Amino acid sequence: MISEDTIAAISTPPGRGGIGIVRLSGERAVEIARGLIHSGDHPLKLEPQRAVLAEFIDPDKGVVLDQVVCTYFRKHHSYTAEDVVELACHGSPVVVARLLECCLGKGARAAEPGEFTMRAFLNGRIDLTQAEAVRDLIESRTLFQARVAAQQMEGSVALRIQPYKQKLVDLIALLEAGIDFAEDDVSVLGWEEIGNHIDASVKDLEGLCEGFTVGRLIHEGLSLAIVGRPNVGKSSLFNRLLNQDRAIVTASPGTTRDLVAESAEIEGVPLRFVDTAGIRTAREEVESIGVQKSLGAIADSDLTLVVLDGSEALTSEDGELFQKVAPLGRMLVAVNKADLPEKFGESEVRELWSANGAGPESRKAFSVVRTSALKGRGIEDLKKQILSTAVPLLELEGADQFITNLRHQQLIRDSLDALRKARAAAGRKIPHEMVLIDLYNALHALDGITGQTATEDILGLIFGRFCIGK
Ligand code: GDP
Repeated sequence: MISEDTIAAISTPPGRGGIGIVRLSGERAVEIARGLIHSGDHPLKLEPQRAVLAEFIDPDKGVVLDQVVCTYFRKHHSYTAEDVVELACHGSPVVVARLLECCLGKGARAAEPGEFTMRAFLNGRIDLTQAEAVRDLIESRTLFQARVAAQQMEGSVALRIQPYKQKLVDLIALLEAGIDFAEDDVSVLGWEEIGNHIDASVKDLEGLCEGFTVGRLIHEGLSLAIVGRPNVGKSSLFNRLLNQDRAIVTASPGTTRDLVAESAEIEGVPLRFVDTAGIRTAREEVESIGVQKSLGAIADSDLTLVVLDGSEALTSEDGELFQKVAPLGRMLVAVNKADLPEKFGESEVRELWSANGAGPESRKAFSVVRTSALKGRGIEDLKKQILSTAVPLLELEGADQFITNLRHQQLIRDSLDALRKARAAAGRKIPHEMVLIDLYNALHALDGITGQTATEDILGLIFGRFCIGK
């Protein structure tokens, strides 16, 4: 799959900027750069790991188009592990585009999305999890996400998987030895022992899978649905959580615009808001599509924030809302307008909750926070409660421990399935060879995480999601 072509792409974002970079990678990178970049009357001298200031001369017209800083990274010491030349010119889109065009004119091929990183992988410089982490880092929206991606870029996922793989390899080796010695009628490992070994591996991998809940939140963010009667202050709270004026706040009930999905962050975990406009539409239309859609969206979100107006008595409408969201997973309650005289307390909220379809068990299961969106009070507490309600055991400090990537989780699941099959086979005392097939499958799945066993289609899927120039 390793290509002979020299590839080129613009590696800086589109648009105007201070600088724009064209990157070349491959055998002919230096030669192509030399054909376009000149240093006075002398041919361009590129020394590894050194930046040189030179001129980009349009090969068609022979005129100087820009000054360029050229940096040469020698094979095995570059991002792709091939010869790489980076040409940094001023960030005029036309100049950068012309520079790329000239590189292509000199024989480079336009890089596919992610092709530089794919080459780094194919050349064995990084494993697949590290390549994926590059994309995660580029796409990170919070510094916390970036930190987790940076750790994974260093190879933390492979390091984490390694001991589990080693245990499987050890067990496989023991079983293989058992087969070799079978004729001597020596049972190297008893069935019970085999079963115990497999059980231990199953437990390990289940632990890894559990960490994915937290990992997914770090990666994709926490989705929050905000519901409540008209005029209780949902939009105002939403704005406070966003720290900016996005949703439109109005004084007359029912006129608030839809809560559009926007992003904020809590301690580095991105927060996504789920549109719940439909749930407020006409109360008679309980079966209407809008209501159903909203309820679906709420059910899919990580948690629901029910907003009540603390300055007015609780109403039957509040109770109906509880009925609707009660079956839909985790929730918490904000009693808003805490700057005004309080008309009810936390116990009334819990009573209303239990009177509306929730059993006494779940009465304690949600927190109630008093807020004033108007004065900005209770917002930090609300944020804290949002985070801890979504992830009760969240220990963000151990972020490198988590599996954040769905593909990795799927492969761990595949490995678990194979291990469970092996366990069942061992229980039935089926010949070792059969158990081994399942154990090899389990190992194979784990190898897929780092890319040792990735197929071309899978690589296409992974790298296709990169931006061009990376
Ligand atoms: P929504 O319909 O639930 O989205 O409510 P809005 O956010 O549009 O707010 C409705 C009205 O209540 C607006 O006039 C807000 O200024 C007011 N409001 C919102 N939060 C508070 C609060 O904490 N205290 C007070 N006193 N008024 C608030």
